[in-house]
Formats: sequence, structure tokens, C-alpha cells
Amino acid sequence: MASIYAGSTVTIAATMSVSDLEGFTALSPPEHISRKFTYLSETGIPHTFHARKTLAHGHTPKPYPLLTRGWVLQERLLSPRVVHFTRDEIIWECMERTTCECGCIRFLWSPGWVPFNKNLLHEPNLSMMSRAELNATWHQIVQEYSRLNLTFSRDRLPAISGAARILSQFQGSAYYAGLWRASFVRDMMWKRHGSSQKSKKLDKTPSWSWASINAEVTYNEDAITTTEMVAVMDIIMEPIATNDQFGTVRGGLAVLSGFLVSSHQVRAMLRLDDQEGDLYRALQGLGALSLDVDEYSVAESNIYFFKLSVQTLVSSKARNQEVSIILLSSGSGACVYRRVGLLERTFEGPQPEIDIYKDVDETTTVSIV
Ligand SMILES: [Zn+2]
Repeated sequence: MASIYAGSTVTIAATMSVSDLEGFTALSPPEHISRKFTYLSETGIPHTFHARKTLAHGHTPKPYPLLTRGWVLQERLLSPRVVHFTRDEIIWECMERTTCECGCIRFLWSPGWVPFNKNLLHEPNLSMMSRAELNATWHQIVQEYSRLNLTFSRDRLPAISGAARILSQFQGSAYYAGLWRASFVRDMMWKRHGSSQKSKKLDKTPSWSWASINAEVTYNEDAITTTEMVAVMDIIMEPIATNDQFGTVRGGLAVLSGFLVSSHQVRAMLRLDDQEGDLYRALQGLGALSLDVDEYSVAESNIYFFKLSVQTLVSSKARNQEVSIILLSSGSGACVYRRVGLLERTFEGPQPEIDIYKDVDETTTVSIV
């Protein structure tokens, strides 16, 4: 399907419709329909003009139904041109501009209330991008996509596979369940957006992939420099269709070497007793803790911290950030873990005041499933 959208001249979108049972045309409210006015000039010559009330595009009460659907994002990104039929007017979107009948629209809002950039996959732009820019573009697509709804959570990777396939031509890097080999460490630094939103872990997708949870994810793009503290030893994927690296997977494993510290060591360092819940509270005091799913405070005694990177952030003051993933011992063998969250610690100076990796001298090789 992706090639059909990419090869189209124009895509007609029933943007206002909730389902295919609804039509896609409507009569505009009367004040938005153009009316003819006539006036006489001083010399008595009649002049006519047409006028209509403009629409309040900055204050749309909610996003158009079609634009909340997961599959639709890549259909929009891949189509060179889209004509949106909405309740009030027709909207035009192409790689150069977005415009509408009243002439006031500049972009279509996404469900996350951020302007959506239609030309993210415009090939002439992609061909001029550095690897870092391609990486940022992919993160933007993932963030946008993760806000949208899918009827079947098993479609989480297939419904974005057309966009990934286009980007792979410019990335020149292997693709693993929503992450790229060339930027694997950076790509692992996603976090679940907000804790109020319900999040569910999807069974088969590897836990290091953003596609393993059914929730909105974000990336911190404020880093000027990133020093990776991890060596990626191996990544093994099990795609369901062996000839499609972009589709659904039935499992995957990443073997990484880096600095690992257990919750027991961190507890001892922070002088905490063994009460469940107090470690997470203490970590919130040390940095920004983001758990991938809601329900595992019970597992607090079994978690580990694995340092991914140290970054310099964009700021008026010199600020650094240490990023760790939080791992849970899978119980299925030595050094096999599942990712359960991300810990970001921002600090001034060379290292955090309380360095949780202070006593860790040697690297450990971990397998994350
Ligand atoms: Zn308009």
C-alpha cells in the first residue's frame, strides 16, 4: 500500500469522517460560504466583490477524526499531495505548503497539539540531511505516530513500515523494530510521555523498542553532544515475515556492554531500607524517572540501572545529563533483562553529586529481550 500512496498524484482524504459509513462532503455553515456584494463607485460604476468569514484555524476544538488514525500518518507523509474534505472547507497539503479555502491555515494540528510537518519524508530534503538530522526526523515521526490510535496493537510496526522503508534509503543502516543500527543507543532513549496515560506492554516486541508499549513516547532532542557509554555487541531480530525487516516481529535480542548497577547497591548508597516504593521516590528526587508501564512498582527490588550516555544539553548554563535505562531481571537466565523505564539526571559540572555508578569499575554484558 505504501507504494500506491507514494506513487499517487493526489490522495483524497475523508478527513472529517469517523468511519467509512459517513460521507466525506458537507455544506459549509452559511457565514463561511462566499457571498456577492455590489457597490457603486463615486462615478456611478458598479463593482462587485465576494467575501466569506475566515475560519478560526488556531482554535480547532479537536483534531479531525481521520488524523487520529495510526495508519493515516504514513499515508499522508508518503502522498505527494493530499486534499482533505472537512466539515467547513477543503484543505490542500503538499510538500511545499498547506492552504485552505479561507486562506488562513498554515498547518494541520496533530492530536498532540503540535503543528504537523507534511514534508518530513520529502526525498530532496532527506538527501541533504546529515545522519543526526535523519535521526531527529525519525524521532519526530515516531513521536507523532505514537500519539495516534490503532485498532490492532499488532499493527504498531507495520503501520509505520512504509515511512521506515523510505528513510532506510538515506540512513544506510539496518532497522530493528523501530530503531536503527547506526543510532541504536540514541534511539533507545525514548520515554513514555506522561504517567497519566495508560500504557500496556506488547508481548512479542523487544522491550528496548518504543513499539513495545501502547502509549505515546517522546525523545529529548536538547542534546548538543552525546557520549555513548555502551558498546552494542549484537542485535538479533525475529521478524514474522523473514523477508520483511520493517514488519511485525516475534522477538528480538540486543546484547550490550556497559555499566550496570543493581537497585540493592543504589539503596545502600542512598541509605534506604527495603520498603517497596521508596527507591522510586528517591530516584524522582535525583532525576526524571519515567516508567514504561504502570504496574510494576512491585518489582522494585529486582531492577538494575544501565548507563546509556552522558549528554550536553542546550542551555544558557552548562548542563549535562546522564541517561540510564532501567532493566528488570527477566528470570529466564543470567544477564537477561527487559527494559522497564528510563532515568534522566541533569546536573552541572562533570558528574552528578550522587553518582550511582561510583563503585562500578567493570563493564557487564547484558542481553535485553
Ligand atoms: Zn481555512
